[in-house]
Order: sequence, then C-alpha cells, then structure tokens
Amino acid sequence: MKKKILIPLLIILLFVFTLFLIRLTSPREIDDVSPEILCEQKYLEKSDILWIIPKFNNKSISENKTWCQKILSLNKTLGLHGVYHEFEEFNTNRNQKYLQEGINIFEECFGFKPEMFKPPQLKISNENKKLIKGNNMKLKLNFNQLTHKVYHCDDSGTFPNWVVDLF
Ligand SMILES: [Zn+2]
Repeated sequence: MKKKILIPLLIILLFVFTLFLIRLTSPREIDDVSPEILCEQKYLEKSDILWIIPKFNNKSISENKTWCQKILSLNKTLGLHGVYHEFEEFNTNRNQKYLQEGINIFEECFGFKPEMFKPPQLKISNENKKLIKGNNMKLKLNFNQLTHKVYHCDDSGTFPNWVVDLF
C-alpha cells in the first residue's frame, strides 16, 4: 500500500526539482516594462530579458529619450510586449498597421526592431500568431513563462516577485 503512494510522489518531486533547476539556470525576464509603470530596480537588474510596452496610457516610450537611454544602458535583451497592453490585446485579431505602430515606437526608442514578442496575458489568436511570424518575431508563450523566472514590474504576476525569486 505504501509503495503505491511513494512512486507517484517521487515522480512529482523529481518533476518539481527538475523545473526548479531549469528555472534557476534559464535567463530571467521581467514583464511590463514602461516609463508609466513603476519598476523595482532590483528586478530590472536581475533580469536578462526586458519585455517592453511601447505605448502605455497612450504615451509612446519614444517620447521619453532619457528613459530609452536608461533602458539601453542596462545592456539587456529587449522584446515587444503588446502595443498598448490592453487586456488580452492580441486575442482580438489585429492588422499589420496596428502591430507596426508598436514596432515603430520600439525602433524609434532603441534604434533596432524587436525580434521577440510576448502578448499581454499570454493570449493570442491564431491569426495574430501568423502576423507575428510574418514580422520575423519569435513568439513567447506559456511554455516560456513556465520554464523561466518571470518578474513583473508592478508585481502583478500570478506569483509575486519574491516567490519567483525563490522558485
Ligand atoms: Zn504584461
């Protein structure tokens, strides 16, 4: 009887431990980076990949050159995180013009085009998946979020930043 519980328990523990090691050794990320969102410097610095919102509260990041320079000086990998970061923004089908605005603002701010895209709330329609691929951007979704430590600037993630730090 005891054996029957022990084996599945060991499998679960092994899975959790493996996931722990993967997350520990993978590049760290931070979502929701924008001059409009207060971001704890500690987590910005700990992260290798910053996910940038190009136009939050209807303000373009490219209007704030000081901020653009500050982000560039951190020397991190930067990805595009939506355009306006509305709720499930990319679950609604968007056209090239819509996405292009985000790409242009990003490029104006940093001097290069984004090569990665993470949709807000990780929700994206099949049509939008094609749109992202057509723009030569790598799409990062749930699997990426599970296998990496992902902080959130305003600490609004499923788990708070200090928990992400531990596991
Ligand atoms: Zn987000």
